[in-house]
Amino acid sequence: PPFDQRDGFIWYNGALVPWREAKLHVLSHGLHYASAVFEGERAYDGVIFKSREHSERFRRSAQILDFEIPYSVEELDAAKGATVKANGMTNCYVRPVAWRGSEMMAVAAQNSTINVAIAVWDWPSMFDVETKMKGIKLDIAEYRRPDPATAPSLAKAAGLYMICTISKHRAERRGYADALMFDWQGRVAECTGANIFFVKDGEIHTPIADCFLDGITRRTVIGLAKKRGLNVIERRIMPDELTGMEECFICGTGAEVTPVSEAGPYKFTPGAISRQLIDDYSKEVQP
Ligand code: PMP
Repeated sequence: PPFDQRDGFIWYNGALVPWREAKLHVLSHGLHYASAVFEGERAYDGVIFKSREHSERFRRSAQILDFEIPYSVEELDAAKGATVKANGMTNCYVRPVAWRGSEMMAVAAQNSTINVAIAVWDWPSMFDVETKMKGIKLDIAEYRRPDPATAPSLAKAAGLYMICTISKHRAERRGYADALMFDWQGRVAECTGANIFFVKDGEIHTPIADCFLDGITRRTVIGLAKKRGLNVIERRIMPDELTGMEECFICGTGAEVTPVSEAGPYKFTPGAISRQLIDDYSKEVQP
């Protein structure tokens, strides 16, 4: 069913309310001017993976958009946990969102109420490693990640997802699973909802996250790779370098670790390091 026609509970400005009653008015600043930030998290066996880091990033994203989330990290963590529980979920996706309300409807909106909601839903991951190991195919996006001087690139801001939705639609229309986005300088950046890694000569290469989201999964995977004694190199990667890369995988809360078999004209063969990190990540998220 559509997301507004389900049953369960949504945490809305401090209390759990029946799912269908968690509404907002059409004259909300967040809708018109994209003054909204969100998070995407996963609970495994009833425990949200790195909940605190997500709550911290949620508050930081809002600050970058010049508003303050009126709940502490501890309150947000408790609210997320309570929402998972109230919906009787153990393995699910968790979506906190914050937006400016209706007090002011112009570009300036300093006096608006900051609304916060938390919803959870079932979002199965591709658990089957063998299916994953076939790899997904990536299109090359037309849009580029914007210059940090042009947009609040490091916030998980709703407004930044406009180019992701357009790119993802075009990719799916053309038969791809997702799109690889370059940054404003034409360097390899990330996918529409996940970060990207490459493997060459047993070493891992990934772009520096200075104009796109530094994913919590990205940092987790870097840590896991280092634990395995692998060299992880964060650097500028130009598209033509992808010719020499052996493996490629993307990672994010939703995607977890998912190998890639091609990105535009570049081909990869999902291999041992991707498989190892899929395995390490699936163990790491277990409480
Ligand atoms: N980049 C973008 C654009 C995303 O939407 C996401 C998912 N939140 C990521 C990267 C990965 O971030 P994380 O690992 O924190 O989920």
